[in-house]
Amino acid sequence: MGVMMEKKGILIVISGFSGAGKGTLVKALLKKYDNYALSISMTTRKPREGERDGVEYFFTDRERFEETIRQNGLIEYAQYCGNYYGTPRAYVERQMQAGNNVILEIEIQGALKIKEQFPESLLIFVTPPSAEELKRRLVSRGTESSDVIEKRLARASEESEGMEAYDYIVVNDDLDICVEEVHQLVEASRRAPVRREAFIKEIRNELKAFAKGEQ
Ligand code: 5GP
Repeated sequence: MGVMMEKKGILIVISGFSGAGKGTLVKALLKKYDNYALSISMTTRKPREGERDGVEYFFTDRERFEETIRQNGLIEYAQYCGNYYGTPRAYVERQMQAGNNVILEIEIQGALKIKEQFPESLLIFVTPPSAEELKRRLVSRGTESSDVIEKRLARASEESEGMEAYDYIVVNDDLDICVEEVHQLVEASRRAPVRREAFIKEIRNELKAFAKGEQ
């Protein structure tokens, strides 16, 4: 019998400007569908009010972060506004083997490193409808000082140069629509030939057997 869907999950990278609403989007996606697993990154950034170690991030210091890099414990890492951020290897590998779609919510340098290592990964860039709306969201979040907001806006301008590297751009205007769009992109991507290699091989072999009159 042919396999209908490869068991291995796909690696989904979600990037977007700081303040684009990626966090909210990812949370809503996890709540609505049960075949997603979210990777928790390691960072040297200080926790924001309400953030818990092991939930939003694994918070650590530079020394321990660099030790993890040396031990090859991260599949990618990058520096962002003066802090290290990285994706722990073990969790991602385990979840993908279990057939879950793994979400990495990471910035662009990390996204590009993931695409290099895992060419079949899916890269989605989330953006607010306009730059003005981005600034409004950053200010109204109220968790960052004005110089941090300036830094993040400057970084957003740099990051906008890399938007073409992504497979899809999703505009986050209405959250529910955005969640649905991302889910549909994932479902469509799982059906691409690069992610259906075992299926293709199997049906080809079966057809060959028919053609030879063996069955
Ligand atoms: P924040 O400080 O706002 O939580 O995150 C800052 C930026 O770092 C965001 O764009 C976020 O997606 C990104 N980021 C979070 N975790 C990782 C990671 O493990 N690797 C990389 N490359 N970027 C990350």
